Amino acid sequence: MSAPIHYTLALLDPAAHLVEVTCTVPDPDPAGQDFALPAWIPGSYLIRDFARQIVHIEARSGGRRVPLTKRDSHTWRAAPTRRAAPLTVRCTVYCHDLSVRGAHVDPGHAFLNGTSVFLRPLGREARACTLDLAPPAHAAGWRVATTLPEDGAPRHGFGRYRAADYDELIDHPIEMGNFTLATFTAGGVPHEVAISGRHDCDSARLCADLARVCQWQIDLFGAPPPFARYLFLVSALGDGYGGLEHRASTALLCARHDLPGAAMREAGDGYRSFLGLCSHEYFHAWNVKRIRPAALTPYDLQRPNHTTLLWAFEGFTSYYDDLALCRAGVIGHADYLALLARTIRNVAQTPGRFRQTLAESSFDAWTRFYKPDENTPNAGVSYYAKGALVALALDLTLRRRSGGRTRLDDVMRALWQRYGLTGAGVPEDGIRTIAEEVSGLDLGSFFRTAVHGTRDLPLAPLLAAFGVRLTQAASGTAPGLGVKTAADGNELRLAHVFTGGAAHRAGLSAGDVLVALDGLRVTPASLDRLLERRRPGETVTVSAFRRDELIACPLVLDPPPADQITLRATRGRHPARDAWLGGTAHPD
Ligand code: ZN
Repeated sequence: MSAPIHYTLALLDPAAHLVEVTCTVPDPDPAGQDFALPAWIPGSYLIRDFARQIVHIEARSGGRRVPLTKRDSHTWRAAPTRRAAPLTVRCTVYCHDLSVRGAHVDPGHAFLNGTSVFLRPLGREARACTLDLAPPAHAAGWRVATTLPEDGAPRHGFGRYRAADYDELIDHPIEMGNFTLATFTAGGVPHEVAISGRHDCDSARLCADLARVCQWQIDLFGAPPPFARYLFLVSALGDGYGGLEHRASTALLCARHDLPGAAMREAGDGYRSFLGLCSHEYFHAWNVKRIRPAALTPYDLQRPNHTTLLWAFEGFTSYYDDLALCRAGVIGHADYLALLARTIRNVAQTPGRFRQTLAESSFDAWTRFYKPDENTPNAGVSYYAKGALVALALDLTLRRRSGGRTRLDDVMRALWQRYGLTGAGVPEDGIRTIAEEVSGLDLGSFFRTAVHGTRDLPLAPLLAAFGVRLTQAASGTAPGLGVKTAADGNELRLAHVFTGGAAHRAGLSAGDVLVALDGLRVTPASLDRLLERRRPGETVTVSAFRRDELIACPLVLDPPPADQITLRATRGRHPARDAWLGGTAHPD
């Protein structure tokens, strides 16, 4: 066996957000060894060019400096060395990105994704790695939270860690600092919740709720879970929301007031959405980390990896995240239906769903979903939101057509067994194939419409068959403009102008600042009041600034937008609905 690639990481100047990382290759390529940082981080489909944060880099071998040549935006080549001596590259990396995708270091803590700091010796990615984490000089009492396996370091301590290969090295984010730590067990496996940042979280409540959700997911796929331990790595901030999945952990950002407080009884909106986020990332430990598109197996870390399947990996995960809370009995049926109604409304308010299919939305994630602009709602559809609705429609269709014998759960289990457990990638037509195999049904027309078509899904009749009534109505009486606005102080800017709406027909554009309606000043507070006294079909004169030029145009008002979607369980017991939503109608 070849000697491992050895890394060291130390905080160089936390106040300046600098870390120093070394990478030693025991047997560098005699023709010149290439080193690269990934261009993107798996799970977040955008080229991020992490190498731009390397502020200094040098190479040494046998006590002598080795010249480095930059090959492209991410890659350096060390000149051939004379003797077969180990080669060490040392770099200083600027880490000031407080997101789940980057690295953030300051005197209070350090959060590191390997993709931001660990150079990859090309051609040696399969080699085992060791990592020495040095304790910072300035901060006594710091601990380490990571699921990277220890190789001499004590649990939660500094010292040596290891990884089977580079892919594993970058799939265990690392937090160092004074975080709180709470634990629970699910599926016989220890789970930890490390929370950094000031907070007053009721950890006992959080762990009790998470334990139920995690256990439900483990039971869905079948015990034991595919990891020996699991870590929720949480950064509590004044405001924030985000998560990124890893094989045995997840990095999460949340608003500290969304964490449960000691005085909290009923789960509020914020806490429910935090639990939904935890549930989402945990489900990814199966669905995308292990059941993975063939197009992402293995990851090509230098360039975009295209697949038409993100609707199944992000969409199905988005369906199961809240559903798991309901099935596990952490939220009740009515709360779950309210969350589902929100997703239906989001999709219904996106005219772009008639232009872009889910397969196209998935494929173009890199250049469209991850690069939204003012035209995004007109041009595209989210593979998260519509993908979740496709999962819902597929689940209900399977249950209905099989008389309740086949459910989406069975499809997920079959995917797990065929692809997750074997490590084989899911082919582009793999989801439909497995769904048809498991159910014995011809689902060709379902997938053609739902994934490769742009017609709306027949959710109302499907839900009605499960004792849930879907209604859509206007939430107010004010006529519509067909826009989404953004308040900027006392100014009202058009953030999005929906194709075909009143503002579009009148010639208004995203970016215009509304100033008056029939000569009366428009502010964020006054617009609805002004509109409420008008009727749909009436013509008003709208004044707006386009850049610094004042324009005025006649605008024919739309009917009030049907922006309220409600899902209500019909009265009485409904066995098919109870089998679908599980848990209890009212959680304890
Ligand atoms: Zn996700």
